Amino acid sequence: SRAWHLAARPIGEPKPTDFVSVTTTVADPGPGYILVRNDWLSVDPYMRGRMDEGESYIPQFELGEAMTGHAVGTVVASGADNVPVGSTVSHFLGWREYALLPAGVEVLDTRLAPAQAYLGVLGMTGLTAYAGLTHIAPVRQGDVVFVSAAAGAVGSVAGQIARRLGAAKVIGSAGGPGKARRLVEDFGYDIGLDYRAGDLPGQLTKAAPEGIDVYFDNVGGDHLQAALGTMNQHGRIALCGAISIYNNAEPPPGPSNLPLAIGKRITLRGMNVGDHYDIATDYIQQATDWLQDGSLRTAETILEGIDKTVEAFLAMMRGANTGKTLVHLP
Ligand code: NDP
Repeated sequence: SRAWHLAARPIGEPKPTDFVSVTTTVADPGPGYILVRNDWLSVDPYMRGRMDEGESYIPQFELGEAMTGHAVGTVVASGADNVPVGSTVSHFLGWREYALLPAGVEVLDTRLAPAQAYLGVLGMTGLTAYAGLTHIAPVRQGDVVFVSAAAGAVGSVAGQIARRLGAAKVIGSAGGPGKARRLVEDFGYDIGLDYRAGDLPGQLTKAAPEGIDVYFDNVGGDHLQAALGTMNQHGRIALCGAISIYNNAEPPPGPSNLPLAIGKRITLRGMNVGDHYDIATDYIQQATDWLQDGSLRTAETILEGIDKTVEAFLAMMRGANTGKTLVHLP
């Protein structure tokens, strides 16, 4: 079985040489354990933070140890009656071909949706979009909503959820004209902005002359600054991610217009999806219905083979993906 280890802590943008693929033998599962052949691996932006030294809300990757992350796979040997061979399960021992782990895993119902959906729209990223727009920066009837990294895993779902929650106008931003177009054609946005075309504050003011009520921030930096300038009184901002600065070797300057948040009585609220698993069952039920009736559209960017895992991660961080980025293990 092959697994990816972190070989060196990246400085700035990670390099392929910061990772190494290691081959180990697979052990039989003892009582209470299962052996899973991973079929799908998830790569996610929060993994960049785990590559750095130091405390975070999730343990860092250790040098010379197999990396971890969400994965789904098939049980190929079982020491637990409740998780028989052939079950499809979700767990956290990603970045590897085979995973030996305690049988206390989530068994997935693949009649409702394909297994990999549980890594995206029915998994952590879908729940992030839903929790952010219902609990952190709740959308109300008639709101104008802005979402950044809107063509990504979280963002491509967030726009559609905002609409269901009653938003009157949903604006997204993404990198490049092709993605900006897909926001409107595929992911239910009213307006798609291409931030790479420049003057994001100007583009945003033109898109929302009436102002923004809710900003779902996946990007931080220049996007947060632009949104603050356009927010309405009592606006709500979900601080979900700050991908524009995850690779910074030096701390970035803060938004220089933060005092605007005072006069506008804006609520800026950080979120961690880990706080919201109490609503996961309800959300999955709803999202499954929406997927089955075709009203929720999703996209995946899939790379084939364990060898491509690092490439998949790096490409996603640079924006080469649309929708959820996954590695498929044949
Ligand atoms: P995505 O699928 O959205 O992939 C990341 C995207 O970020 C890229 O596709 C790219 O899109 C965009 N991006 C990269 N660099 C920049 C930049 N400098 N400026 C603007 N956009 C950039 O990833 P996810 O959907 O998995 O995650 C989205 C965000 O949500 C991340 O910030 C992540 O950390 C956060 N998150 C937070 C959670 C929480 O609990 N707080 C849980 C899950 C995710 P483009 O081509 O448009 O530039």
